Amino acid sequence: MNTRFEPGAPAESGFIPLSVPEIRGNEWRYIKECLDTNWVSSAGPFVDRFERDIAGYLGARHAVACSSGTAALHVALLVAGVRPDDEVLVSDLTFIAPANAIRYCGAWSVFIDAEPDYWQMDVKRVEEFLVQGCLFDGKELRNRSTGRRVSAILPVDILGHPVDMDPLMELAQRFKLVVIEDATEALGAKYRTRGRRPEARSHTAQELRSEGDSSAWRMAGSLGHIGCLSFNGNKIMTTGGGGMIVTDSEEWANKARYLTTQAKDDPVEYVHNEIGFNYRLTNVQAAMGCAQLEQLPSFIERKRAIARRYAEAFEGIPGLRCMRQADWAESIWWMFTILVDPKRFGIDSRELLKRLERNRIQGRPLWQPLHLNRPYLGAAGSFPVAEALSREALSLPCSVGLAEADQDRVIQCILDGA
Ligand SMILES: *Cc1c(COP(=O)(O)O)cnc(C)c1O
Repeated sequence: MNTRFEPGAPAESGFIPLSVPEIRGNEWRYIKECLDTNWVSSAGPFVDRFERDIAGYLGARHAVACSSGTAALHVALLVAGVRPDDEVLVSDLTFIAPANAIRYCGAWSVFIDAEPDYWQMDVKRVEEFLVQGCLFDGKELRNRSTGRRVSAILPVDILGHPVDMDPLMELAQRFKLVVIEDATEALGAKYRTRGRRPEARSHTAQELRSEGDSSAWRMAGSLGHIGCLSFNGNKIMTTGGGGMIVTDSEEWANKARYLTTQAKDDPVEYVHNEIGFNYRLTNVQAAMGCAQLEQLPSFIERKRAIARRYAEAFEGIPGLRCMRQADWAESIWWMFTILVDPKRFGIDSRELLKRLERNRIQGRPLWQPLHLNRPYLGAAGSFPVAEALSREALSLPCSVGLAEADQDRVIQCILDGA
């Protein structure tokens, strides 16, 4: 089944939520199948199918389902070789989960400011840190000021748009770093490789699927050495809660499967040679995931249409700037976000948020930059772009099922006041 969605009906209660799941496909049928067959727990045919379907969709060799995106990040960092006291470069302007996952491994975050155009990890800042802030002996990279080993980069594709991965992967190769891509907000987004193709990767399935100058378009989540997805309720598709690790490395996929299932070394006797985790997705959740994935292309189409309408409505309005898409990217416009310049618009993003709330419309600021959160206070670096974006940003209602009349109400409320 591959439904094409029309916009939904206007919110009956008059309340317009920021983003809610869309459950109009085979979810009931597949979950009933789990209940009917008694396959309800962390093994079963839908888990296998969901992993195969996601791997196929991303053009990656392996996918390992996890209980959440955060669990996926934790295990991805472990299998990628991040050790206690290592340092990992991570986006500063993002949801906090990746920085926490780095701490779960006993490693430390090095926060990287955002770039002002697409608000993603600024690869120029990454280069600056690696070249000026580190010492490289040809094998290992060390932070000059802390003396710690720097082992990985964790770029986060925020709001549905990929990080500029080509130059990032080149830096990673040059300094022998592993790249763990957090694509939890960008499932379905695409990235166009401009330079030479990255070494030793196969993206045949995906190349065949893409249109136009197809050979260069690749899927977010498959752009690093290992990628992570989330199926939390607020993401573009959901399993209620869940995540996925995606990689071309069979060794890493096997290790991830092992660590997410309590590191059991003998299928009969309970023998464990490492500390593992209970991080598996259940068959019921995977069943929902299979049904949601069938609808993902139509979800993305709706997100794009919603973004286009907002962008048209706000074009030329002094003090409002909409999120944008690089010409090397296809965003999924996961969470439509505007910047409000108080000097030119008249009120700031938080006052506009209150105005929306008075009109029963839910908005949301972006995250507080990670370096300002208490567990990470005192982190080195300066983050003027992330701080400005976080001050000015406001996310607007953009559910896949958002009715056009409701979107018009949001637009009116922003443009006409009240
Ligand atoms: C949602 C999200 C996660 C974590 O996913 P969960 O499934 O909620 O654990 C990680 N990183 C980012 C950037 C996210 O937005």
